[in-house]
Amino acid sequence: MANKRDYYEVLGVARSASKDELKKAYRRLARQYHPDVNGEEEAAERFKEISEAYEVLSDDEKRAAYDRFGHAGVQGGAGFSGFESGFSGFADIFEEFFGGGLGGRQRRRGPRRGADLRYDLTISFTEAVFGVEKEIEITRPEICSVCNGSGAEPGTTPQRCPTCNGSGEVRRVQQSILGSFVNVSTCPTCQGTGEVITQPCKGCNGHKQVQRARTLKVKIPPGVDNDTQIRLTGEGGPGANGGPPGNLYVVIGVQRHEYFQRRDADIFLELQINVAQAALGDDITVPTLDGEETLTIPAGTQSGTVFRLRGRGVPYLDRSGRGGYVGRGDQHVIIQVVIPKKLTDEQKRLFKELARTLGKEVVPQERSFFEQLKETLGDVFGRQ
Ligand SMILES: [Zn+2]
Ligand SMILES: [Zn+2]
Repeated sequence: MANKRDYYEVLGVARSASKDELKKAYRRLARQYHPDVNGEEEAAERFKEISEAYEVLSDDEKRAAYDRFGHAGVQGGAGFSGFESGFSGFADIFEEFFGGGLGGRQRRRGPRRGADLRYDLTISFTEAVFGVEKEIEITRPEICSVCNGSGAEPGTTPQRCPTCNGSGEVRRVQQSILGSFVNVSTCPTCQGTGEVITQPCKGCNGHKQVQRARTLKVKIPPGVDNDTQIRLTGEGGPGANGGPPGNLYVVIGVQRHEYFQRRDADIFLELQINVAQAALGDDITVPTLDGEETLTIPAGTQSGTVFRLRGRGVPYLDRSGRGGYVGRGDQHVIIQVVIPKKLTDEQKRLFKELARTLGKEVVPQERSFFEQLKETLGDVFGRQ
C-alpha cells in the first residue's frame, strides 16, 4: 500500500473540494476509464483507483478518517476492498451513462434492508391498561462478529473471482444477423458478488451471519390491546451490503381478567346486590382499575341497571407518537339483583309479612324487560 496515490490526487480535486465537485470529477473520470469503454490495459486499474477514491471521499465519515490518518484510516475494520465495495455506489451512475446492464448485479451487491421480525408477547390485563416495561429474549440472525460479515476467516480476504475477474458477470459476444451483441449473465462461480471465499470464517462457516440470542427491553405504553404492534426500529434481521437492519414488531396479546371485561377503552363489571339493597338503596364498594371506590345505589334499583364511573376506564393510547395517553374511558357497573334461594326462618317470616303488604297483583311489563328478568332469574323461577 506504500505506493498508493492520494485520493484527492486520483480524482484531481483540491482537498477542500465540495461533494458536488467530487461527484463531477468522478463522473468525468469514470466515463473516461470504465473498462467497457476504454480498451487500454491500464484503464481497469485506473478505474478501480478512481472508484475507491470516490467511495472514501463521498462518505463523510470515511473522508474525515482519511483526512486525519491517510490510507491507514480507511483500511481496517470491515475490510475495505476497493473496487468491489466501490462498485455498488457506482451502479446508478453507470446506468446513467451507459444505459443499464448492471441491474442484476446492483440487486445482488447493492445495500439491502434486513428482514422484519415478529415476536408475540402476552401481558396481563392491568399491564395492558397501565403500560409496562418487559424484557424479551429473541434469537435472531446477526452479522458474524468474527469476520464482520465478510464470511472469510480473519486475516484472509475474499479473492477476486477467477471466472469473472471480479466483475460479477460473464459476458459472451454473440453474432446475429443484426451484428454482434454482448450477452451478460450473472457469474455462476461467485453468484454475482465478484469474490470467492477461499478460507471460510470459522465463526459462521462462511455464511456471514450467525443466530444469536438477545435480551431486549420493550416499553409498552398504557392502553394497548390485543394485536397492538410495537415497533423496535433496527432490531430485526441484519441488512446486506451495508443496508440497514429490519425492524422487530412485538405483537401484544392480553390475558383475560378475573372479573373486568374490556371493550376498547371502556371497562365492564357485573356486580350482585341483594333484594334489600336494591329496594332500600345502599353504598357499595366497587373494585376499579385504580382500587376500590364507593358507589351509591339509589332505592328502587332494578336488575340490569348500569352505573357509569367516569374516567375509570382504560387510557386512550396516544397514537400521535408523543407517547403517554390522552384521557381515559369509563367503567360501567352492571347491577344484578340476586333473589335469595335459601331463607332462614326469620327471613321467611319477614318476606311473608312483606308479601302481605305488596299484595298479589301482577302487572304485565314490557316484553323486553320481562325477558331480561327471566334470563337473570330464570333458575330461581324454575324451582318455585
Ligand atoms: Zn464469520
Ligand atoms: Zn465471479
